[in-house]
Amino acid sequence: MTHHQNNEIKFCPYCGTPTQKKIVYEKVRVFCPDCNWVYYEDPKVAAAVLVQQNGSILLARRIFNPNKGEWTLPAGFIDAHEDPEQAAIRECLEETGLEVNISGLREIISGREHDRGADMVIVYDAEIIGGILTAGDDADEVAFFPLDQLPPIAFQATRKVIKSLIQKNNPS
Ligand SMILES: [Zn+2]
Repeated sequence: MTHHQNNEIKFCPYCGTPTQKKIVYEKVRVFCPDCNWVYYEDPKVAAAVLVQQNGSILLARRIFNPNKGEWTLPAGFIDAHEDPEQAAIRECLEETGLEVNISGLREIISGREHDRGADMVIVYDAEIIGGILTAGDDADEVAFFPLDQLPPIAFQATRKVIKSLIQKNNPS
């Protein structure tokens, strides 16, 4: 996969020895020839919230590439050791100024879409419990949009969530 070429691990993080590569458990992996540490790459996991209000959904406009200027669900990476629901709540507050409660798990979307993207996104349903709608963090605008008047949407994952929402709202 091309997305690892720029941040390949060149030295063992434990003993500093230059790493080498070999096949470990059926994949080529970076390892340390001195202390035998093997780099098992972990997936990057993001959490997102779907907030609905009067038939509209909450979206945030991206200030960073890729897809700068397009709109996504409030979302961000889950930190190591962080509860995914708490990550979703934290990211929503940082990007939109709104305090939310998680009301359910909507779906988990897998597939990395760009070099710095997530390998999977956990999408929660969330309800507003406080705060004031204000763009922050990596969003420069936040707003509610009716499902039939959506702005340009960033990422297949966002489109997939919206599509399944529309299908659930209009069965058959
Ligand atoms: Zn080592």
